[in-house]
Amino acid sequence: MITTTDLRGVKAFKELDDGALALAASRSADIRLKTGEWLIHEGEAPKFFAVVAGKLEISKQVAGQTTVLRTYETGDTFGEVPLLLGSSSVVSVMATEPCHLAALDTTEFWRLMHTQEPFAKSVSADMADRITTLWSSAMEVQRARCTIVGDPNSPDCHRMRDFLTRLHVPFDWEERRGDPSCLVTFGDGKQLKSPTIRELAEAIELRTSPREHCYEVAIVGAGPAGLAAAVYGASEGLRTILIEREAPGGQAGMSSRIENYLGFPNGISGEDLADRAFRQVNRFGADVVVTREAVRIEGEPYARRIILDGDEVVHCRSIIIATGVSYRYLDARGCQDFLNRGVYYGAAQAEARRVGGRRIHLLGGGNSAGQAAMFFSDFAEHVHIIIRSGDLATTMSHYLIAELSTRPNISVIANSEVVGVDGKAELESLTLRDVRDRSERPERSDALFVFIGADAHTEWLGDCVATDRLGYILTGQAAAGLSRSWPLSREPFLLETNQPGIFAVGDVRKDSVKRVASGVGEGATAITMVHQILTEVPEEFKVQDALREGLVAAPGRP
Ligand SMILES: Cc1cc2nc3c(=O)[nH]c(=O)nc-3n(C[C@H](O)[C@H](O)[C@H](O)COP(=O)(O)OP(=O)(O)OC[C@H]3O[C@@H](n4cnc5c(N)ncnc54)[C@H](O)[C@@H]3O)c2cc1C
Repeated sequence: MITTTDLRGVKAFKELDDGALALAASRSADIRLKTGEWLIHEGEAPKFFAVVAGKLEISKQVAGQTTVLRTYETGDTFGEVPLLLGSSSVVSVMATEPCHLAALDTTEFWRLMHTQEPFAKSVSADMADRITTLWSSAMEVQRARCTIVGDPNSPDCHRMRDFLTRLHVPFDWEERRGDPSCLVTFGDGKQLKSPTIRELAEAIELRTSPREHCYEVAIVGAGPAGLAAAVYGASEGLRTILIEREAPGGQAGMSSRIENYLGFPNGISGEDLADRAFRQVNRFGADVVVTREAVRIEGEPYARRIILDGDEVVHCRSIIIATGVSYRYLDARGCQDFLNRGVYYGAAQAEARRVGGRRIHLLGGGNSAGQAAMFFSDFAEHVHIIIRSGDLATTMSHYLIAELSTRPNISVIANSEVVGVDGKAELESLTLRDVRDRSERPERSDALFVFIGADAHTEWLGDCVATDRLGYILTGQAAAGLSRSWPLSREPFLLETNQPGIFAVGDVRKDSVKRVASGVGEGATAITMVHQILTEVPEEFKVQDALREGLVAAPGRP
């Protein structure tokens, strides 16, 4: 229990009279921490804390890096910044020695601010100091980590910029027209000439190889479904690895605004959602490997192996396949030549800078095209949506159609398809065909963004798991129907494939809903099934693990 003597030693409470102090003490929670224990994490509901005894370290994640901002000691208070701003906690706090703290909730904090002038003065003075610390740390960490130098139409430069933007890594961009190479320079003088994405990832110190020998669950694909599985797996104590061939976020990372994900009343960009999820996965301690592609699955139930590009092997008890879908490529004359230098798939935020003041075209009449049109219309001179049908009503949500109609620089080109793209160094025009009379006409264009659907990303699996004829993975009842290939007496779980311990979640699964929320739900659900699988692991496998990890001695050895 917090006493008045405890609070009397804290600067902000020093001038309170005995009655006010007794009331505050009686309404404070008594918190004790051991060295290394976390008091609060960034993003959690805030509280006001008074350090009765001990020392704590305050850290913050900025642009994917953790920075220690300062320490607090006996007599200090903190937590007022998010309470005064009405936000969630803006820093994480860990005890660096055994600590004793008093914690006040929002109501009690505001009661003291309104009724105790000396308390309010002390807290306000601290706040000004804290904001300055946060500001200077953000200024320092947001400094560009590297500079990309090259032609604005270079597909390599596009990939580098897209990768860094998706990871929220700050960088500078220097246009050098006509230079075919893509140069990446770093503050310490290091240079990479036309690097692979993996080389760039390693240069900015992202993990690209597994940390451990064997995992309880390996998740392939870091879209919303895979990220959710990793958060639940790691937070529930499973040894978890998440493998992603590019940057985390999946298709959602390419969406300029997701309007319908629960808890974000004003919508959230796919990049922001992915960034939050990525930080959450890291916080729970999952091993995240980026820029690595899973190329094969081998092994037997409970002793699976995922082979990565370059033949690196990840051993695991269970696998969650969350590889989503790949964009369907537009089969039009010249398209391949302009890939990522005029013709793009999806609508990443990184492209916003490129479309400024230009005339751009979006191909497709679904919600993703509608969201992209809204987003790009803030930058582009004019956005044209090209659709085969006569209007958008059958393919796009009504709320989006209504929003589009409020933007004078968005228009729809109906009854049309793109049959060719043309230009010299840059995209200059499209050839449009009228689907009614098949007549063709040129259309001036600075960029074409394609949204014509997607195909399951399962070719890497070969015949390892059963799919439907379009490549979507069968699970649960559908997989149970293939009784010849199912070796156990129990039926497959709801999200389990026709191979025990291999699950499929999100867009890659047959009959999935193809929404962020449903992918997240399936990712979380699959983890409950992984727990079940782990109870089935035969004893001899556990002994082999213990031997490998040196927990027991091999037979005949001391
Ligand atoms: C432009 C756009 C806008 C959208 N807007 C909305 C919206 O507003 N609301 C909504 O609910 N939904 C929206 N969606 C749909 C939503 O984004 C998807 O349903 C969701 O992303 C599916 O998640 P997923 O994790 O199953 O797969 P994906 O997001 O497709 O992620 C799969 C991941 O797996 C990786 N991968 C694939 N193969 C391998 C491999 N062999 N090895 C390693 N990694 C691999 C990929 O690189 C990718 O990162 C939108 C989609 C798009 C394209």
